Amino acid sequence: MGFTIPDKIENRLFINNEFVESSDGKKFNVKSPYSHETVASVFEATENDTNKAVAAAKAAFPEWSEKDPHERGQHLEKLATLMAQNHEQFAVLDAICMGRPVSSYFDALYAAGFVSHYATAAYAYGKGTTSLNTKGFVNLTFRQPIGVVGAIIPWNVPVVMLAHKITPAVASGCTIVLKSSEKAPLSSLKFAQLVKEAGFPPGVINIISGYGTPSGSTLALHPDVRCLNFTGSGATGKKIQEMAAKSNLKRVILELGGKSPTLIFDDADISQAAAETAASIRLVSGQACIANSRIYVQDTIADKFQTEFKKHFTNAQIGDPLDPATTHGPQADEIQYNRVKEFVELGKSKALGKLVAGGDFPKANGKGYFVNPTIFLDVPEDARTFKEEIFGSVVGINTFSNEKDVLAKANDTEYGLYSAVYTKDISRAMRVAKALEAGCVGINCTSPSMAHDMPFGGYKQSGQGREGFGYSMENYLEEKAVLIKIDNAAAGMIG
Ligand code: NAD
Repeated sequence: MGFTIPDKIENRLFINNEFVESSDGKKFNVKSPYSHETVASVFEATENDTNKAVAAAKAAFPEWSEKDPHERGQHLEKLATLMAQNHEQFAVLDAICMGRPVSSYFDALYAAGFVSHYATAAYAYGKGTTSLNTKGFVNLTFRQPIGVVGAIIPWNVPVVMLAHKITPAVASGCTIVLKSSEKAPLSSLKFAQLVKEAGFPPGVINIISGYGTPSGSTLALHPDVRCLNFTGSGATGKKIQEMAAKSNLKRVILELGGKSPTLIFDDADISQAAAETAASIRLVSGQACIANSRIYVQDTIADKFQTEFKKHFTNAQIGDPLDPATTHGPQADEIQYNRVKEFVELGKSKALGKLVAGGDFPKANGKGYFVNPTIFLDVPEDARTFKEEIFGSVVGINTFSNEKDVLAKANDTEYGLYSAVYTKDISRAMRVAKALEAGCVGINCTSPSMAHDMPFGGYKQSGQGREGFGYSMENYLEEKAVLIKIDNAAAGMIG
């Protein structure tokens, strides 16, 4: 296999286990952010196609939801094996679509592990409870799949995203329609091929390509979709919530953006903190929701930290994402590139901090939407570059003198996805972890440190709901109270 572009790339919609062209035959082009060439022309789902996918999922639901979890798990196990076997192909497709260097691609193997977990987990998560706490009654809860799930994902780590959405849904007995991002639809279609190979019944997993409108909004507005699980920007997340309320009050899970702070105290291991924080904001060229884009370092160690950080952060090798020597890819497309460029230019032109690295936009072999890793020191706390998600390898490093002040600054944001603290003082670490307003706190580690069995999600405008083992299936299950009277003389309940 290796990192070669396949001769034939699947470009059709996957509905009811068939690859089909869009009903109006319309396609959109996917261009490489490195070569700027069209790498695929992909069929775009219309409203009609999206409705067909939902109808297929609805028709498949009764039989799939009645299947023994073990049988559902067998399909998932096969799928996990196929994903692992094909991980290099996934790497190639994400490299040519959105510029992710193959050298840093871990997504498909990570996602295969996630899929494999759910192959055996459905029994445990689907289990209800029993209560003898009401006199004259034996009470139970049933946990039942919610129905058809809609999922909408972004482009930055598509295979991780689709595994997080699809696997727990189908393990719990739901059926699903997933819309991939228009910027990176190819790896989702590769996944669809493996779904078919793994022998899932028709309609259980449907994968469509297309834009927010019409296909995304059709899903969000659809009366037969009972849960909509969305990852993307806050602006779109708000629209999804409005559409859900306007249609059928479907359950909404939102995984949104971040502007994550990392606090480095003077007793920290400076080398470790510098290496790890640089890797965090370099990951996927800074296009990661959990990137530590705001760094606060204690003033007494600031010079040493900044020097070490710069060394790790700026040793990026730009180039063809398919070349294993490339360590820093281009931004995903022209829109993302212009967005990051605009923030960098704003920082430079308004002197929003001192530019000490990057700030320029190099080309590799005369091509590519590259942004050199960029550092601004001492950024005004209210600067747009320090408040808004840039989604590029652009970091602000500020100093602090005491814990109380830095906590106030770190929490002065509408985001709350990820945060980190570096210190050897265990009491301080725990105080800070308690005080940080974020869904995840790393102590002496920063993003992307994740644990499968921990909840993942955001405080404040970084989202609502949680994903992760033990949490994701909650999103897809309804809980029913079943009250059984065993003593006719029992008074029963209130009212
Ligand atoms: P986006 O909001 O532009 O798009 C996300 C998805 O929503 C795409 O599939 C898009 O087609 C679809 N969409 C757009 N408008 C829609 C509409 N009106 N109705 C329905 N669907 C619509 O976000 P993006 O640029 O693809 O992704 C970047 C964002 O995702 C960043 O903010 C990043 O922080 C966030 N993100 C969050 C997480 C997390 O887990 N919290 C993970 C990855 C990315």
